[in-house]
Amino acid sequence: MANRQSHASRLGANVGKVIFRCKKTGLEFDSGFQASPDEVQLLPVNAKTRLRCRICGDLHEFKFTDARINENAQFARVKEK
Ligand SMILES: [Zn+2]
Repeated sequence: MANRQSHASRLGANVGKVIFRCKKTGLEFDSGFQASPDEVQLLPVNAKTRLRCRICGDLHEFKFTDARINENAQFARVKEK
């Protein structure tokens, strides 16, 4: 008798939201990416992405090495204007 276990929980054990920091305001926001800390460490040091900042609305280049992984799914959303 095997316990019922969700298959999804195996893959996504440590996956969290990738949090970037706005270069203008210093505020953090949810990039919309999801990754585990392990995955981020495997990326090249200069791996970066360009995306529209949810804080100030500008395009910034973000390095994944500067990102923070929020493993808590209950990330408090930043207030939107
Ligand atoms: Zn910004």
